[in-house]
Amino acid sequence: TYVVTDNCIMCKYTDCVEVCPVDCFYEGENTLVIHPDECIDCGVCEPECPADAIRPDTEPDMEAWVEFNRKYSEQW
Ligand code: SF4
Repeated sequence: TYVVTDNCIMCKYTDCVEVCPVDCFYEGENTLVIHPDECIDCGVCEPECPADAIRPDTEPDMEAWVEFNRKYSEQW
């Protein structure tokens, strides 16, 4: 899955949401979030993010961000 990280805080762009083929972005408290079970790992959103906030969970130490994204995407 891809995850939204802290660079998203206060970002006002939603380019990522518009390109996601499966609509798995949700509104968190201060950030957008990606539902980890709905993301199909296509990677299309990553280059669209002007804040470089979207990272693949294959990078080191991403577990906490996966849980953060899950928590706020499942509140709806
Ligand atoms: Fe959506 Fe693809 Fe980004 Fe996952 S990687 S959030 S499916 S655009």
